[in-house]
Amino acid sequence: MAGTLYLVPTPIGNLGDISGRAAETLACVDFIAAEDTRVTVKLLNHLGIKKPMASYHRHSAQASGQAILNRLQDGESCALVTDAGTPAISDPGEELVARCAALDIPVCAIPGPCALVTALAVSGQPTGRFTFEGFLAMNKKNRRAHLDSLRGEARTMIFYEAPHKLVATLQDLAEVLGAERPVTLCRELTKLHEEIRRTTLGEAAVWYQENAPKGEFVLVIRGAESVEAEEPTLEDGLTLVNKLREEGLSLRDAVRQAAKELGLSRNQLYDLAVDS
Ligand code: SAM
Repeated sequence: MAGTLYLVPTPIGNLGDISGRAAETLACVDFIAAEDTRVTVKLLNHLGIKKPMASYHRHSAQASGQAILNRLQDGESCALVTDAGTPAISDPGEELVARCAALDIPVCAIPGPCALVTALAVSGQPTGRFTFEGFLAMNKKNRRAHLDSLRGEARTMIFYEAPHKLVATLQDLAEVLGAERPVTLCRELTKLHEEIRRTTLGEAAVWYQENAPKGEFVLVIRGAESVEAEEPTLEDGLTLVNKLREEGLSLRDAVRQAAKELGLSRNQLYDLAVDS
C-alpha cells in the first residue's frame, strides 16, 4: 500500500506559528522533502527533530519528484515542506500533488501559515469573493495578457511580489486598474517589521519609488466597482420602437420586438407609442 504525502505548512516569519500537528507530522513521517534543505534544517533544529531529507525544488521537480513518488509507492510516508508557507501555493508542490493524484497516492494537507490568507484577512478589503493572482509574469506579452484579463475584475485581487519588482508592478497595475484603486500592501507579515499600508495604487507607486521597498510583500487590491445595469424604461422602449419603424417594421411588430428585447409590457409600450 502506498504511503501518504503530507503537505506541511511552515511559518512565514514567526517560528511560533508552526502548529502542533505540523510538528507532529514532521516527527512521524519516514522522510521530509524540502525546497531548500538548509532552510528546513533550521526549523527542524528549532523543533528538535532529526529526519532524513530529500530535495524537491522547481528546477529538479521532474527527477526528484519521481524519486519521491517511488518511495511513496514503496509505502514510505513523506512530509513536503517549502521555505515558508503552504506547499503548492506559488511554491514547488503543485505538480507533485497532481502526480500523486494521478497515481492514487494519498495526499493529506495540514492547514497552516499562508501569506495570501494572512494578507487578505488583515487587508480591510472585501473578503467575500477574491482571486489569487500569484506573481505577475516577467515576460512582457504574458504580463500584459494577465493585466488585461483583470480590467473588469470585481473580486478582491491578491498578488505576490518581490521587493525589487514592486515599483514596476504597482505602476503597471495603476495604469490598467486606475491610480485611484485602493490597495493594501502587506509587508513582512508576522515578522518584527510587519507593516500594513492602506492606500491607492498611484500613491503606493510614488511612495515606493522614493522609499526603496524592503522585505516580502502581498498586494491586496479592491475589485472594480460593479456598474449596476439600469432597468430599461418605457421611454427606452419608445426609442427602440421608433428605430425599428424607421427600419421598416409595422408599429405592431416594432412594439412586439422592442418589448421582448427590453423586457417591457407590450400593452403599455403600444399605448405609449400610439399616443406619441
Ligand atoms: N507558499 C507560500 C505561501 O503559502 O504563502 C508563498 C511562497 S511564494 C514563493 C513567496 C511570496 O509569498 C513572497 O514573494 C511574498 O509575496 C509572499 N510572502 C511570503 N511570506 C511573506 C511575509 N512574511 N510577508 C509578506 N509576504 C510574504
